[in-house]
Amino acid sequence: MIKVNDNFTLLSPSYLFSDIAKKVSDYRREHPDADIIRMGIGDVTRPVCPAAVEALRRAASDESHADTFHGYGPEQGYEFLRKAIAVHDYLERGIDISPDEIFISDGAKSDTGNIGDILSPDCRVAVTDPVYPVYVDTNVMAGRAGTPLPDGRWSRLEYLPCTAENGFCPPLPVTDPDVIYLCFPNNPTGTALTRAQLRPWVEYALSHNALLLFDAAYEAYVSEPDIPRSIYEIPGAEKCAIEFRSFSKTAGFTGLRCGYTIVPRALNGTDSKGHTVSLHHLWLRRQSTKFNGASYVIQRAAEALYTPEGRRQVRETIAYYMENARMLREGLASIGLQAFGGINSPYIWVRTPGGLSSWEFFEQLLHKCNVVGTPGSGFGPSGEGYLRLTAFSTHEATAAAIARLGQL
Ligand code: PLP
Repeated sequence: MIKVNDNFTLLSPSYLFSDIAKKVSDYRREHPDADIIRMGIGDVTRPVCPAAVEALRRAASDESHADTFHGYGPEQGYEFLRKAIAVHDYLERGIDISPDEIFISDGAKSDTGNIGDILSPDCRVAVTDPVYPVYVDTNVMAGRAGTPLPDGRWSRLEYLPCTAENGFCPPLPVTDPDVIYLCFPNNPTGTALTRAQLRPWVEYALSHNALLLFDAAYEAYVSEPDIPRSIYEIPGAEKCAIEFRSFSKTAGFTGLRCGYTIVPRALNGTDSKGHTVSLHHLWLRRQSTKFNGASYVIQRAAEALYTPEGRRQVRETIAYYMENARMLREGLASIGLQAFGGINSPYIWVRTPGGLSSWEFFEQLLHKCNVVGTPGSGFGPSGEGYLRLTAFSTHEATAAAIARLGQL
């Protein structure tokens, strides 16, 4: 008899995006000529920028010569990339993060999912609601989430609602969790917290010995000066927070796969005997055991994003998507739909009209406009009554989607 991890059997049998894909393919089967505009899944449409492509070519050439070939690399990532990140993403912004505190990964999904390996199975966890599903599902897999409740929540997780009513600023926890996941700029709501709104979270974590898992996958989209790009802009965060970042939405790396995680040297936890343990040390141990590093060619491509031309090209790509976000925000407002986000992030969070449920609105958009969004309820109970649209389309498709919505 093969004994499986029971926790996996608790998970919902299908993933939100598979349900959506099935509904879209059913619709397409009945309407083969429909011109469907996909604004649901968060994949990008702009290609990898030329500076990174050139670096990929050069790195591929390195790999083809014995004297420049790179085999297994350092598990924590090559120093050339960690140095570029430390200088451009942190030191230039007045944040003291050293290359040694940076771990290169194959993307933020893996690291936000795997970080639980170094935390006690007993940890109490809080998530904002709605939420990027990876945080919840990986805690279910680890046995920390308890059991599913009829309303879609998990018995052992604390949910911190982010809705229009509280300005998408979650309340501080009340159950004294050990671990708190924060994602700002937020997926799915597209909203962000100001420095003043984020500060109480760091103070809370420090005074309650809690760990903040801060997902900054969308920091490159921050456009307003009072929105922090990193949790480490808040004093004391280096003693209570791990930060995750990704090149996916910044530079079209969704297919290439590269991101990084900051585990500061100053961050300590406690083992069951009461001894102080460095989280940096545990993560390094975990990564060197279970991860053999992101590939050399991909790390060279990521390094190229920090050259002057790479940075300019990344800015252009982001500006392209943010123009879509502007079109969506203004277009939705002009047809009387209430929408949030899209100023510091590529997501637009639309309130469903006329009291429709998230799935009802999803169906209407699919059937009447041939536009695919993501039902907000798929991200958690507080997402009910909302639908997420992404700015990752082309200008043409974005304009067409708005025109179709206007006719609805
Ligand atoms: N974190 C958030 C909040 C995301 O929305 C995504 C992707 O959609 C990721 C992490 C995953 O990023 P990556 O492609 O680097 O794995």
